[in-house]
Amino acid sequence: MSWENKVRKVVPYVPGEQPKATNIIKLNTNENPYPPAPGVKKAMEEYTKRSEELRLYPSPTVENLVRELADYYKLPEDQIFVGVGSDDVLATAFLTFFNSEKPVAFPDITYSFYEVWAQLYNIPYVRKPLDENFKIVQEDYFGEFGGVIITNPNAPTGIAESRDWVEEIIRKNSDCVVIVDEAYVDFGAETCIPLINQYDNLLVVHTFSKSRSLAGLRVGVGMGSKKLIKYLNDVKFSVNSYTINRPTLEYAALSLRDEAYFRECVDKICATRAWTMEELGKLGFTMTDSKTNFLFAKHETVPAEELFEMLKTKGIYVRYFKAPRINEYLRITVGTQDEMETLVQVLKEYLAKA
Ligand SMILES: *Cc1c(COP(=O)(O)O)cnc(C)c1O
Repeated sequence: MSWENKVRKVVPYVPGEQPKATNIIKLNTNENPYPPAPGVKKAMEEYTKRSEELRLYPSPTVENLVRELADYYKLPEDQIFVGVGSDDVLATAFLTFFNSEKPVAFPDITYSFYEVWAQLYNIPYVRKPLDENFKIVQEDYFGEFGGVIITNPNAPTGIAESRDWVEEIIRKNSDCVVIVDEAYVDFGAETCIPLINQYDNLLVVHTFSKSRSLAGLRVGVGMGSKKLIKYLNDVKFSVNSYTINRPTLEYAALSLRDEAYFRECVDKICATRAWTMEELGKLGFTMTDSKTNFLFAKHETVPAEELFEMLKTKGIYVRYFKAPRINEYLRITVGTQDEMETLVQVLKEYLAKA
């Protein structure tokens, strides 16, 4: 018998490429094209004077950041959980809340990490097909489940549902935890945070990676009832007490304090999204109605994979999923206006010859 028989073997999540070249237009992992709030840069410069502090462990309860988040979201501090990116919040939530023989339900087309965590933790799961317009079928989530996870707006489709629509799913699942992953909510969808005090089985997850331009910092937030957050923390403290490093605790707080800058960046992205949708439409693309910082687009004649490869040769990276139903689509992050103008120009020239 080899030791390999005793290994936990998993098929990992495959993140988008992070190319080494710097002179590229990177529209493949939904990062924000604008820098983080100016206060973050200033704090980083000032932190170098206190680098000696790194001798010390960070706060295991991250109370300063939790206080800032509580102020920002108008929630009590004991209803907030902080993780190393929302991936960490979600992985911890899967481990904590999805512990039943009944399957956890999520769409067949959604954030592909959910399936990876379900497999990693041996959680039974069921993938519910989106309808022909790539919309989540609400009634599919009215049943007996070990848990439910919905991304709203969904990825990679970009489609948002209303808070009332999500609430109906929560209402019908009072016997299990319902997670609402709101990674893209700031780009034009309704948050379910106001429902937290009505449903003690609801966990709403946000991230600093997209709308706050801090993917490199790794901060995510889980919000829910006091009881839910306590269970999450019990599992977190059973794995790693010191998840958020000392400087990150300060930088994340500074991002929250600059609401004007945050709004300005989000508004710019939404305006560029509208412009890009219109231009791509003129070039023969059809798209879902995105409420996120990416577009999910398909050309009427040229295959997505061909466009994906062509764009790469021009130094423009977008995301292509070689998976059933979505392999005719490109997922294109909304970059700066300049970047999107270049993208449109390159596509225009190629399609004129195709
Ligand atoms: C990007 C993303 C996340 C993870 O983001 P983090 O960088 O780990 O905070 C989670 N869910 C969805 C749907 C995402 O698109």
